[in-house]
Amino acid sequence: MSKIPEERIQRLNLCSNNPGGKFVLYWMDASLRQRNNSALEYAIELGAEYKKGVVVVYCLHTKGRLSSRRRARFALESLRELEKSLSARGIQLAVVFGTPQELIPSFSATACAVIMDCAYLREDRIIRNEIARTVSCACIQVEDNVVVPVETVSPHADYSAKSFRPKLAANLDRFLILPDRSVPAVSTLNVNLMKLDLSDFDRIEELLTFPYDVSPAGDFPGGEKMAEKRWRRFLKYGLSRYDQRRNPTACATSALSPYLSFGCISPVQILIQLREILKDDFWISCSDEQRELLPSNIAAFEDEILTRREIAINYVWYTPQYDTFEGLPRWAQRTLELRSVDDREYIFTFSEMKSGKTCDWYWNQAQLELVKFGWMPPHTRMYWGKQPLLWTREPAEAFRYALRLNDIYQLDGFSPGGFAGVGWCYGLHDLPFHARPIWGYIRPMTRHPKQPTDLSDHRSIRLRD
Ligand SMILES: Cc1cc2nc3c(=O)[nH]c(=O)nc-3n(C[C@H](O)[C@H](O)[C@H](O)COP(=O)(O)OP(=O)(O)OC[C@H]3O[C@@H](n4cnc5c(N)ncnc54)[C@H](O)[C@@H]3O)c2cc1C
Repeated sequence: MSKIPEERIQRLNLCSNNPGGKFVLYWMDASLRQRNNSALEYAIELGAEYKKGVVVVYCLHTKGRLSSRRRARFALESLRELEKSLSARGIQLAVVFGTPQELIPSFSATACAVIMDCAYLREDRIIRNEIARTVSCACIQVEDNVVVPVETVSPHADYSAKSFRPKLAANLDRFLILPDRSVPAVSTLNVNLMKLDLSDFDRIEELLTFPYDVSPAGDFPGGEKMAEKRWRRFLKYGLSRYDQRRNPTACATSALSPYLSFGCISPVQILIQLREILKDDFWISCSDEQRELLPSNIAAFEDEILTRREIAINYVWYTPQYDTFEGLPRWAQRTLELRSVDDREYIFTFSEMKSGKTCDWYWNQAQLELVKFGWMPPHTRMYWGKQPLLWTREPAEAFRYALRLNDIYQLDGFSPGGFAGVGWCYGLHDLPFHARPIWGYIRPMTRHPKQPTDLSDHRSIRLRD
């Protein structure tokens, strides 16, 4: 297939393509976009070989990532936009109720092949393997929500960014390539499919029972248009100030994490465009100081979106216990366990933490903002994720509480970044620090006395479009 590196493409079963099928089926799950989507382009090109069009199916359920109404709404908003943009390309999108294991095999009965995108959590992998086992045509996975495919960059879990970075760098160039945008051989808009009407989200959600009935995050509308808009805005106003990213009130980060975590924008596109920036005249508008800082800001942002993001994926891929305390490095578990006998000044229950009723005003504000808006700036997350250690008797309990809060409320939660991010607070991908009570060798985080105590004003600055 043109311009899609071979390592991105994996056959998941031994069945052959079915040239007599009515269409190529793309089961969309992890990449809610039609721009720069290698799985979609692969499906279109395969369809062209058989003179068939492409049908895209999305399965709506309330498990895993979609267990929160907040994230399901984000997905629905992205899908409504996709329905139109795919239709303009002659591709029908069918959003259907049910799990992929139940639905994809029946859709595939009349398909030439099933194409799927790649996701990394335990449940995602089980579902893909189960589908591959039960369909009777070829099942092909195309991995394009990472820059370098996870098994290409490293054959095992890497302990630190320091060892991971050069492995990524060694493989980067051949993966910095976007798929060609192809035209489907045939339109599938007239294929008769039972599907949900996406005009009324409330009606759809009424029919679902969410384990976490959390309100939608209004500041983060789903969809690839919004992802693109945020990316452009960051290039214009954020990147030249990225050196201030540790100040949560500076609004100097991209706020792209929900869009990346739902695949609304391609990380390959971001990296390519980032590298083109220095050639672009839009930097003429920068001050001298900003221009001077630009190369280091670009390098710092690239390190986050490439190294940090992809080492998180490496972690969940190669660590079966990624969602438990046992997934942490041995030294981190040991030091925390040894320090579990140290006195805690306060103990709070999960429910007190959830409602922002701890002794720490700053932490409470961050938590309440998370409950309401579904997103936190990166540096705040680090402080927020670590503090439960001070308020629980067992470090494993602190880890569990932080992860649960993250999974319930973060719009980008229940994702590799979430599991590795909470893990980092408890020693993952980090080095031992000077020993302290309760923390042991884990890097502690305290509040800078000069940090503002009221974050509420700054939200509106951060999220202005
Ligand atoms: C306790 C805790 C919980 C976290 N939970 C999540 C989560 O649920 N989902 C999630 O995607 N990230 C999570 N992170 C990682 C990181 O904090 C967020 O990705 C970041 O805050 C997103 O903000 P941004 O898009 O403005 O980041 P930017 O600084 O603009 O970075 C650009 C992109 O790079 C990626 N990235 C940056 N830092 C990291 C990192 N440390 N790990 C993985 N990817 C990174 C993200 O995709 C991010 O959108 C967590 C970190 C911590 C410490």
